[in-house]
Amino acid sequence: MTDCIFCKIVAGDIPSEKVYEDGDVLAFRDVQPVAPTHVLVIPKKHIANITELGDAGLTSKLIAAVNKVAEDQGLVANGFRVVNNCGDQGGQTVGHLHFHILGGRDMQWPPG
Ligand code: 5GP
Ligand code: ZN
Repeated sequence: MTDCIFCKIVAGDIPSEKVYEDGDVLAFRDVQPVAPTHVLVIPKKHIANITELGDAGLTSKLIAAVNKVAEDQGLVANGFRVVNNCGDQGGQTVGHLHFHILGGRDMQWPPG
């Protein structure tokens, strides 16, 4: 998608601080972190949101990447949060599927 920010990050047209990459998945630091560790895990192909993720193989690759990033970032011992915002009321602002990994501080519940 030509006007998608995250597709541009995948293409290298917008710089990002990558923390994990394979053939299907990219993980990079959020530009406006809300926790000491804030990483976004995305499929490299454009998928608008989680309701469009019909591919079980890609789903498992995304979850595996979430776990690898959490481990690599040293978040497993103390715990961390994985967030997917879907659609307008879900608070999604970038229309390319992404999972937030948040760690390094205590989280609150319920979220706002
Ligand atoms: P959403 O609100 O859609 O769940 O999350 C979108 C996230 O993408 C936000 O946390 C925002 O800070 C992040 N973001 C938006 N534009 C960029 C960018 O150009 N680079 C990076 N690294 N993160 C971005
Ligand atoms: Zn995209």
